[in-house]
Amino acid sequence: MRLRNMHTDKSRFSNESCVAADPIESIETRIVDLPLKKVHNHSTGTHLTQSLVLVTLRTKHGATGYGEGATPAGTSFWGGECSETIKQVIDCYLAPAVCGIDIFAHESILKAMDRASAANNFAKAAVDVAVHDAVGKLHGLPVSALYGGRVRTSIPVLWALASGDLDSDVEDAKRQLEARRHRTFKMKIGMGDASKETARAIQTAEAVWKVEPTAVFTVDLNQAWDEPTCMRFLPRLESAGFAMIEQPLPRWNHEGMARVAARMDIPISADEGLWDFHDAYTSFKACSTDLYGVKVGKGGGIRRAYKAAAVAEAAGVPIYGSMALESSIGTAAGLQLFSALPEMPWGCEMIGPLLLADDLTTVPISYCEYEVVVPNGCGLGVELDHEKIEHYSREK
Ligand code: MG
Repeated sequence: MRLRNMHTDKSRFSNESCVAADPIESIETRIVDLPLKKVHNHSTGTHLTQSLVLVTLRTKHGATGYGEGATPAGTSFWGGECSETIKQVIDCYLAPAVCGIDIFAHESILKAMDRASAANNFAKAAVDVAVHDAVGKLHGLPVSALYGGRVRTSIPVLWALASGDLDSDVEDAKRQLEARRHRTFKMKIGMGDASKETARAIQTAEAVWKVEPTAVFTVDLNQAWDEPTCMRFLPRLESAGFAMIEQPLPRWNHEGMARVAARMDIPISADEGLWDFHDAYTSFKACSTDLYGVKVGKGGGIRRAYKAAAVAEAAGVPIYGSMALESSIGTAAGLQLFSALPEMPWGCEMIGPLLLADDLTTVPISYCEYEVVVPNGCGLGVELDHEKIEHYSREK
């Protein structure tokens, strides 16, 4: 293993041992409130701001790692956690539990967090990402190298059409196509009458297909429908040519998802109902999802998201790289992992940095020719802009 000590005294590493102990010394958190460029709608709400928790981890010998805890909008509607709970859980339970543990003993860190707090995957993920960033920097390697190294330097990336308005979404899609930035579009529908929402989705796609017949359309219902509604309207989306339906039923209705998936040819994907690698195992066994959107946040961190992807690979379930509207920091964490996975047949949706009105890194995540570029550099591969972080921090 190559070790390039960037932050610590080289003498700590001996020839006999690849990894030297470096205990976690401190973990600090701060909430950062970033404005969105435009309103973001989904079936359960509307928002114009993204709040996130920035984690700064320091080790005894001077390494620093950064992590991000982000839920959609920073609020608790999606999965129960929000920026305020993430900060509180880390400050009160996770940080005291992991301080003193060797930064290289990753499973010990995860186990300590589990002992300190049940659930709270997004909070644990924020700490896990900071650990990965610090370890990568200590090794002088990108995080992707910790998972076997990248097999792709960029990943096809979709765009979310979430204005709730037909004309706005059509114009938005055309702009993305003209810029050669995105040609797969995920429509957020389900807020309101199911018939009208289905018609709006189909009209949007047909308007775009007139200018770009190869454009791909999917929908995310964010749990909006019940089973009879699914059986009435999903066939219309399937017949129209949509490629995938995400979480049409409530998160708890795994049996309903399995019945819908069995009756439809179009792939059904669980999101709110499928969190970590344990859920992945039970969901794949129950055939309640055809695809799996791997997320670092809901999965409990990069390491556990990797395990979830491995479970999907074993089950033959195709994956895509999913997100919770993270800034460039959390987006880089996802990209480091996704770049090292064997197959990404459905690409990814790492578009948080494009939706946010400002960035927290000195060099933003790059998008080119319908793909998002995996950042180079050690750790997560991004440098933080501390002036911006200070500017947007909730508590000065
Ligand atoms: Mg979703």
